[in-house]
Amino acid sequence: MKVKIDEDLCTACELCTDTAPEIFEMGDDVAKVIVDVVPEDQEELARECAESCPAECIFIEE
Ligand code: SF4
Repeated sequence: MKVKIDEDLCTACELCTDTAPEIFEMGDDVAKVIVDVVPEDQEELARECAESCPAECIFIEE
């Protein structure tokens, strides 16, 4: 699984970085993905973040 953030939409609310700090990190203005491939034991968290992102800007690629 891969995960992407549409940086034009991210509001830097930090929900994803709080929920899954092994996948997301805050950059200068927006959140960024810090893994190329999401580790299997983090996939559920990645899905959770995509579903709960208030800006709906986290996209999962299976
Ligand atoms: S949850 Fe969504 S809006 Fe909030 S920081 Fe993460 S990507 Fe940006």
